[in-house]
This record gives sequence, structure tokens and C-alpha cells, in this order.
Amino acid sequence: MKLKGKNPGKLFVFSGPSGAGKGTICKKLLEETDLELSVSMTTRKPREGEVDGVSYFFETKEGFEQKIAEGNFLEYAEVYGNYYGTPKGPVLEKLAKGIDVILEIDIQGALKVKENYPEGIFVFILPPSLSVLRKRLTGRGTETAEAIELRLGETLKELSYIDKYDYCVVNGDLDEAVARVKAITVAEHSKVTFSAEELVESYKEEA
Ligand code: ADP
Ligand code: 5GP
Repeated sequence: MKLKGKNPGKLFVFSGPSGAGKGTICKKLLEETDLELSVSMTTRKPREGEVDGVSYFFETKEGFEQKIAEGNFLEYAEVYGNYYGTPKGPVLEKLAKGIDVILEIDIQGALKVKENYPEGIFVFILPPSLSVLRKRLTGRGTETAEAIELRLGETLKELSYIDKYDYCVVNGDLDEAVARVKAITVAEHSKVTFSAEELVESYKEEA
């Protein structure tokens, strides 16, 4: 049963400390569900293997600031000394087509999305412990020791925003974490988002 105009896509916003496993979980979700990822724009330099337009849209600081001035972002934030932002157009187009969209963004960005798009679903990905987080960041091997310390230093502050989120998922065992996130997406699609009159009408139309 499909209620006319009542099935826009849902916006799932994932955040959590760097190294908690947001990227890993989102990659699995993209492989195993119909959710689509919003590709962010950043002024950070590409890491080895990152592809422009797939991992991020890589932009200069000037180019990014111009896009801010043009109002092209659903949200943007300065994270660890670089700009990161969510291009607005593609996200809104997907939602209008009924496609679920994932944003994998930092907490400042998530709070801005919450202001502008309160119907979003906000999911916090937690590491099992700080020592596991350190091991994962070190094991990922994509940041210098200094950058890792910067990211770990932010973690406790980031955890204090948990009460702004709708759900939290501890990423201990990856498969279990992915299953829990999938369960959240299913639950959100099972919510009553229509009136009794609309429901009755839709059954009558189909009869
Ligand atoms: P984030 O996107 O939150 O910064 P990543 O997804 O890049 O974090 O994960 C950080 C590191 O931890 C990566 O090397 C990844 O392979 C590893 N990792 C992620 N989830 C798990 C898990 N459940 N168990 C073990 N290692 C994990
Ligand atoms: P990384 O440099 O590891 O790819 O990402 C650093 C941080 O920036 C992560 O916390 C990531 O979630 C966040 N981030 C990535 N894209 C965006 C975005 O579009 N907006 C905001 N606000 N944060 C983002």
C-alpha cells in the first residue's frame, strides 16, 4: 500500500567520533540496502585511493567559500581545520523521489541539519571504548600521530551530544552494528505518518 505524497525518502544522519566506524557501516549499508549516500564536499586533501566525486568532491578553500555564499549547502562545518559540507540539491532531489539518503557528517553538521530538517533521523555510532577507538584510528593508518591525537581529544566532547540523537549503535561486532542500523531504517519506515482518513481512502481507492 502506497499513500500518495506520503512516502518521501528518509534522511538518515550518522555521526560519531572519528574512527568509530561510520564509513565502514555506511559502506555495508550501501551494498546491502537501497539507501544512497550523499557525497560531501571538502577542502581536505584526498587520501590515497579516494576518488573525486565518489569519496568526496574535493574543492579549494576559495571554491568552497563561494559555494557557501551561494547557499549551496544543506549544512557545512569546519572539522579538524578543513571545510566539509553537504551539497543541498542532490539530497533534496533524492528525498523527493522517495530515495532514502545517508549523511555521514560530524556533530556540528548534524545539529545544523536538525535545525533545517527536523524530520531527519539522527544516529550516533559509538566505539566500544576509547582504547578500541585509538587502535582503530592507528590501524586505519590514514592520519599522522598528531592528527589521531587531535581526533581522540575531541571524542569525549563529542559524546556529550548524544542526547540530541534519536538512536545510538555501539560498533563492536561489525555485523551486529550493521544489523542494528538496518533495523532502525526498517522501524522508521514502519511509523504511522498518515491520518486515519488517508489510510481509509487509500484502501477504498484500491478496492
Ligand atoms: P569513521 O568513518 O567513523 O572515521 P572508519 O569506518 O574509517 O571510521 O573505521 C575506522 C577503522 O576501524 C577502519 O580501519 C575500519 O576498518 C575499522 N573498523 C570499523 N568498524 C570496525 C569493527 N566493527 N571492528 C573492527 N574494526 C572496525
Ligand atoms: P574524514 O576526514 O575522516 O573523511 O572526515 C572527518 C570528519 O568530517 C568525520 O567526522 C566526517 O563524518 C565529517 N564529515 C564528512 N563529510 C561531512 C559533511 O558533509 N559535513 C560535515 N559537517 N561533516 C562531514
